[in-house]
Amino acid sequence: MSDTESYGFDTLQVHAGARPDPATGARNTPIYQSTAYVFRDAEHAAALFNLQEVGYIYSRLTNPTVAVLQERIATLEGGVGAVCCSSGHAAQIMALFPLMQPGRNVVVSTRLYGGTVTQFSQTIKRFGWSAKFVDFDDTAAVKAAIDDDTRAIFGEAIANPGGYIMDVRAIADIADEAGLPLIIDNTTATPYLHRPIEHGATLVVHSTTKYMTGNGTVTGGCVIDSGNFDWTASDKFPSMSEPEPAYHGLKFAETFGPLAFTFHGIAIGLRDLGMTMNPQGAHYTLMGIETLSLRMERHVENAVKVAEWLEKDDRVDFVTYAGLKSSPYFDRVKTVCPKGAGALFTFAVKGGYEACVKLVDSLEIFSHVANLGDTRSLIIHSASTTHRQLTAEQQEAAGAAPNVVRVSIGIEDADDLIRDLDQALSKATS
Ligand SMILES: *Cc1c(COP(=O)(O)O)cnc(C)c1O
Repeated sequence: MSDTESYGFDTLQVHAGARPDPATGARNTPIYQSTAYVFRDAEHAAALFNLQEVGYIYSRLTNPTVAVLQERIATLEGGVGAVCCSSGHAAQIMALFPLMQPGRNVVVSTRLYGGTVTQFSQTIKRFGWSAKFVDFDDTAAVKAAIDDDTRAIFGEAIANPGGYIMDVRAIADIADEAGLPLIIDNTTATPYLHRPIEHGATLVVHSTTKYMTGNGTVTGGCVIDSGNFDWTASDKFPSMSEPEPAYHGLKFAETFGPLAFTFHGIAIGLRDLGMTMNPQGAHYTLMGIETLSLRMERHVENAVKVAEWLEKDDRVDFVTYAGLKSSPYFDRVKTVCPKGAGALFTFAVKGGYEACVKLVDSLEIFSHVANLGDTRSLIIHSASTTHRQLTAEQQEAAGAAPNVVRVSIGIEDADDLIRDLDQALSKATS
């Protein structure tokens, strides 16, 4: 597709990045199940390895099926380029990798996916990186946490699991002032509900495992670059601005301009970290992404109905859905994600931990799984599963206290979902 500027979201989610296969005319994007690609001649091979010509070498770096998905997601997010990888967690490492060095830190929101809290509080320490956890509603604290070694700011637009909405613009302003890139995990919002780059984000990361694929079939991730960050404005990002020793002294910012981060992600990130998305995975995500807007509309519509019903129910203590008028984030929805606050929220069950466990075991339509963003409705008791490794304070801060369950509302009939919750709540609280 040419001229993607003038097309609407629904058109782009079906077409962006794809064209009939030049070899066969195949209308759907083929699964290029090939590890390597034949060079036209030795000169062509040299040009590819020098990054003087863009093309395919080896599928750890680039693959034609994955490339279509990269262009599709970059277009939907309004970025200049994207790098797909093997999972959302891989995407987070791939986003930080060009920015960080031993001794450097990233300032991150306290309200994050449980696995991300562990990745940032524990695992990245092995690289000599660290994370400073801050309440992103306290902008003074965010500013105060930034020091000379800070290289990025990281948060989730709609935070999993609590229904928290981040004021992305406010944090982007702080990042701008400090000369730092803002990375937004847009997994739970998707570009249909929120486009972080329009609110000042530098990079966007996704777990495409969730809504982007939408059918719970494959894990995947993606890093999207806005192309808006000047890597040469300070000496903080030598891997982008200075000669890169890992690529025979190439200066990525000077050579690739706004595409520097994307080229770095492929030429060094995927090449040396190897967190590659495979073409089968890209195929499933391409199939799913075609219906993203349709699914998100239904997800949101159902989430509002279910949340409103739960809020009125005596067996429920509270519901943390930003789409409810009672939410402290209800007003923020209008600016951050006016099409809806997503379909992920938590609610507290009277009877605490025991009742939550019974509820999860009594549901018939909802599946008890550690996933979200599936067409199917899902439920999890975070305190006994995904957030189990966290301390009590971290659980509380992440919105995953022991009396709370998280639901990911699917695209089934809302009335059936409510009936299922009704019968299970009776069993759980009797
Ligand atoms: C699932 C998830 C991740 C991690 O993604 P994986 O694909 O499971 O590695 C990161 N952030 C958020 C918000 C998620 O929901």
